Amino acid sequence: MSTRGSSGSSARALFLLAGALLAASGCGRGRATPDSQSSASNVLLVTIDTLRADRLGCYGYRPAVTPVLDSLAARGVRFETAVAHAPLTAPSHASILTGHTPLGHGVRDNGAYVLPAGVRTVAEDFRQAGYRTAGFISGFPLKRRFGFDRGFDVYDDQLPRGKDARRTAYVERTADRTTDAAIRWLEAASPAGSPRKPFFMWVHYFDPHAPYEAPAESMRGVASPYDGEIAFVDAQLGRLLRRVDELGKNAPTLVLVTADHGESLGEHGEDTHGIFVYDSTIRVPFILAGPGVPAGGVARSVARGIDVAPTLLDYAGLAAKGLEGRSVRRGASGETLPDEPAYAESLHPQLQYGWASLHAWRTSKFKLIEAPRVELYDLAADPAEVLDVSARQASRVETMRRELQRAMATTTPGAAQTVDAETAERLAALGYVGTGGSASAPPSGRDPKDGIALVTRLGRNGMTVARTEPEKAIRELTALLAEDPGMLVVLRTRAVAYAAAGRPADAIRDLRELEKRGELSAEDAVVLGDNLRLAGRLKDAALVLERTSSDNPKFAQPLLSLAAVFVQQQDMDGAAAAYAKVLAVDPDNAEASRGLGDVALIRGDLAEAGKRYARVLELDGGDAAALSKLGVVRVRTGQAEEAIGLFRRAVESDPKNGEALLYLAGALASNGRSAEAVPYFERALAAGPRTPMALNGLGLTRLELGDRAGAAAAFRESLRLDPKQPNVAAALRDLGRP
Ligand SMILES: [Zn+2]
Repeated sequence: MSTRGSSGSSARALFLLAGALLAASGCGRGRATPDSQSSASNVLLVTIDTLRADRLGCYGYRPAVTPVLDSLAARGVRFETAVAHAPLTAPSHASILTGHTPLGHGVRDNGAYVLPAGVRTVAEDFRQAGYRTAGFISGFPLKRRFGFDRGFDVYDDQLPRGKDARRTAYVERTADRTTDAAIRWLEAASPAGSPRKPFFMWVHYFDPHAPYEAPAESMRGVASPYDGEIAFVDAQLGRLLRRVDELGKNAPTLVLVTADHGESLGEHGEDTHGIFVYDSTIRVPFILAGPGVPAGGVARSVARGIDVAPTLLDYAGLAAKGLEGRSVRRGASGETLPDEPAYAESLHPQLQYGWASLHAWRTSKFKLIEAPRVELYDLAADPAEVLDVSARQASRVETMRRELQRAMATTTPGAAQTVDAETAERLAALGYVGTGGSASAPPSGRDPKDGIALVTRLGRNGMTVARTEPEKAIRELTALLAEDPGMLVVLRTRAVAYAAAGRPADAIRDLRELEKRGELSAEDAVVLGDNLRLAGRLKDAALVLERTSSDNPKFAQPLLSLAAVFVQQQDMDGAAAAYAKVLAVDPDNAEASRGLGDVALIRGDLAEAGKRYARVLELDGGDAAALSKLGVVRVRTGQAEEAIGLFRRAVESDPKNGEALLYLAGALASNGRSAEAVPYFERALAAGPRTPMALNGLGLTRLELGDRAGAAAAFRESLRLDPKQPNVAAALRDLGRP
């Protein structure tokens, strides 16, 4: 008697089980005055995140691979010294776009402030003057919910889902994709022969921000991965500038390239940026080129972030009134402008760590840093700021300190009149509004110089591994909290690590602690809602998420998390309504379209599901989850080959996506292509999770190919994971018979 036949019949029963694999729906988871239009040139503002001036060839860096920026500087002017007002993306960009320091515009940290409605942006000025305005951003801190979209006809802040398990989804868009989006807009906005209206375009690139993972082709010839990211942005900027030139043959474009801040790269003990206000992070490039800009100049006057808006308006022939910054156009034309000091600050140490904030006053020659232990640097003699001369130059310290205090005392009340309620509340809590005195008192609390080692430990052993090695992160974060219990950012990070470790109750405890201290941010509230859901406390989860959503109507994430609660309650109407609400405020939200696809799939509405997943792919053609789900739809409509094609694309886009690998393996096996299927089953299992379903699929397929020992091994592991599988046990017994 053939043992093969008998194990075959068990195998057929198993195939029915494995069919569940593919049937599974997988519900987952007015200062400006209008000018005559046609003579005006276009204006392109490019900000490159986290870009140190001294890493560009034109600023004297030998190993640089930055030919595009270098040639831009050669056909225009670069300012040898340019200063940002904060080492953080949102506050610094707010200065670039408004012409005000953080004291004036009120955005003091990332993720926690909305640009107040009363603070005008340069995009509003250009729009009022008849320009078409478009912004393309690449990083989370500049999403429209923080107010940076004001004045833009088009504000493209679509960030793809991302594949980096170490980071939250939707935080970054790479320069190639941002450039694609910008070029698409330029092409659509420049139809041949149409009457031309000039444009103001802002393109923000994020790549040099950590982690440094440039594509291999940009790593050739560079000295470090950070330099590789810069080389990649440089090449993409080249593509953008070429297209701007081609499309604007008769319409010259003024280009200004700068950065929001630099990167410490280990200087002063800081790995990245955000804490200190040394030149490592506040000295940035500032390059101008285009009509009216002389070629090959190097300007010695100091330019500042707040000078960007008035300078652009000046070149466009528009008046700028009431800004803290000034036009540096005459500086670009060779004049030496009188020295205007730059104010810089970081409130991040105070807001996230409970330490002292830092405030700096920087002239062209000296920098004073107000801290619990004041610092003074002679920038001409000591550009690296390693020798503090405050003790030797006490009278200079006193003079500069008075100037800094005057700036802080006089500018703050201006901000108070224009901030919105949310921002005002945060500023008041910090003692910055309506309390004149406290703004000029020396900062109190731990000096960030004394805490920087803790920041480094948090970065290296906490933040970067919280999602991938949560237990390791939890140990380090717990040790850090024992050393300094006031570090809110450590509590936040530990909550994320607890969630990743499958310990929602512990995560909830940390988040409730933040709530008790009055420090639960909207993002924290989402993490709290997610963990309450994971802990099975669905009503509590819905309560937190509904409240967060109504407090932050432009923030999609609370609604997306709320939809997940409804899905778990099997309330598909509730889930669909929450997703629809997201699309009402953000029509391009991929996650909401995907969610509506999942709901439709569960309801068996394959046409609707297919439409929704296709929409996700329109927004991001490489979205592996949407490719997989659309493949499942095709399986269920009997289009096996199309399905296999979609699963293949999903695997190409994300080679370690266990779900996509398993779908591809299952589809190949079910269509008589067992030999092709086996390696995909193996890759799916290597990518994880190792489920009985995947192991049974592998066992069956090996059996089809006559690999009895291999099949038995897979079935044995499957039974170890879930002993209650009589069919698998029977198949294994059959295999054991001689
Ligand atoms: Zn930044």
